[in-house]
Amino acid sequence: AKNLVEFRNLQTHFRTSAGVVKAVDDVSFTIREGETLCVVGESGCGKSVTAMSLMRLVESPPGNIVGGEIVFEGKDLLKMNNNEMRRIRGNEISIIFQEPMSSLNPVLTIGEQITEPLILHLLLDRKAAKKRAIELINLVGIPRAEDIFHAYPHELSGGMRQRIMIAIALSCNPKLLIADEPTTALDVTIQAQILDLMRDIKKKLNTSIMLITHDLGVVAEMADFVVVMYAGKVIEEAPVIELFKNPKHPYTQGLLKAKPVINQSQERLYTIPGQVPNPIELGNNCHFHDRCQFCMDICKVKEPPLRAHESGHKTACWLYEEEGRG
Ligand code: SF4
Ligand code: MG
Repeated sequence: AKNLVEFRNLQTHFRTSAGVVKAVDDVSFTIREGETLCVVGESGCGKSVTAMSLMRLVESPPGNIVGGEIVFEGKDLLKMNNNEMRRIRGNEISIIFQEPMSSLNPVLTIGEQITEPLILHLLLDRKAAKKRAIELINLVGIPRAEDIFHAYPHELSGGMRQRIMIAIALSCNPKLLIADEPTTALDVTIQAQILDLMRDIKKKLNTSIMLITHDLGVVAEMADFVVVMYAGKVIEEAPVIELFKNPKHPYTQGLLKAKPVINQSQERLYTIPGQVPNPIELGNNCHFHDRCQFCMDICKVKEPPLRAHESGHKTACWLYEEEGRG
């Protein structure tokens, strides 16, 4: 498949009173057409900032994209002016978040909220927009679309609201749907339904999906390709089956061994000992070295390169380098 998005050496930094946080530090990976790519890692590892950089919605200050390129269909989004970028955000790339209630306007009906982008971006008239909105409500699997069209957000369940957010996100036929922990706030049954819906939509519309999650269960069900991030870096990437069969990086191995805690309202806890390092104190080394049972001298003083192995599998770990084996 063709490349849809190429992150090339992306660097997004935040200025804080304690110092500069390199939230995204030299990140490169590719999202292909029609693919679901999962970005996985613990909270604070840079997943959401990567997505917000792609949308050019990093809050500035304190945030700033200080380096790299984000190439979308051959053009660098970071070089586009605000008008061009607004057009991309309205038409080509959509995003849905964890908590749909905070993204929906409580005083507008569902219908008003779905038709607004159709009128604004696709320049449909009211009647055509309503017809399309009803189609979209059906598409996301909500029965009695006409009633829902006239309802207000608080009249719907959390799962229904997330379906509506997906409908709004799909209204302009985006090429890429970004979903940032879209099911984390939902209970298990509803979570499964929303994931089914997203899979269904990908098949029907051939939309690429960038799915951000800390949940390897979600990754196993959804991903074609997986990017593992740790402390602002990509530390491993591979096709999903390859990653689960043959994880190379000790962090990924730890994630796969860790038992999830069944509590949907919280981030699942991993049993990897230790904590994500203080982002201000990161050195030019392996950011995982404090927690790694295989840590060698070189790991503390030199950053391992992200290097390609067989069949699209890359990892950044000295265990796989001549230099590391010394
Ligand atoms: Fe562990 Fe060293 Fe590999 Fe980092 S580079 S994961 S510390 S072995
Ligand atoms: Mg996040």
